[in-house]
Amino acid sequence: MKRSYYIQGLLVVVGLLALGSILARLDPKKAEATIYTLPKLPYAYNALEPYLDAETMKIHYSKHHQAYVDALNATLKNYPEIRKKPLEELLKNLDEVPQDIRTAVRDYGGGHYNHSFFWSVMGPQGQKKPSDAFQKLIDKHFGNFAQFKEKFTAAAKSVFGSGWAWLCLDKSGALVITTTANQDSPLSQGLVPLLCLDVWEHAYYLKYQNRRPDYIDAWWYVVNWQQVESNHKKAQRSLTSSKSNLP
Ligand code: MN
Repeated sequence: MKRSYYIQGLLVVVGLLALGSILARLDPKKAEATIYTLPKLPYAYNALEPYLDAETMKIHYSKHHQAYVDALNATLKNYPEIRKKPLEELLKNLDEVPQDIRTAVRDYGGGHYNHSFFWSVMGPQGQKKPSDAFQKLIDKHFGNFAQFKEKFTAAAKSVFGSGWAWLCLDKSGALVITTTANQDSPLSQGLVPLLCLDVWEHAYYLKYQNRRPDYIDAWWYVVNWQQVESNHKKAQRSLTSSKSNLP
């Protein structure tokens, strides 16, 4: 008898704890201010082998990317109002971020955004070909796929020091290739990213050492074109809706 009371009591306590945790999640004040976390990597560390090695993926994701997430959280710790805004909005409007944390948001926020984006546009073999529809779009803007690849590769090779190569949608709806230094985001230049390549040495040094061109050549085998195309559709939709909102 005594034991069953004990179990009932225990169940009540567990129930209250569970309820408390649900209510805490529903509390709008707690839900609003974001605590940034690593996005789940959509594949295993070794899924992009032999092009991108598991050890590099592991360190890149769990150490480098995590460090940006931690630094971003530390930067915004005392800025609950800023943390209520989506990261993309912060990077699009850096001039609206308080000046004392603007550089940190650009670097750490950009680092978090760029890496999250980078993981999402890669995948194991099998998804590497653009669809016919997207291929036509590439042909329209760059002549053909080989010319697009050549231009993007040249851009990626040309980054001096640390940075990124990007395929973006500009405000006119055109596909453009661009590069950014450090962890700068094309969002800050009014562009919408569709595809990106990290050319920081930490992205390739373990396997390719100083051979950035070899890393770039290998990377083409793991581009997730389905995701790139879906990014383009989304970007195109938001462009169309923002145009129709113009006075
Ligand atoms: Mn990186």
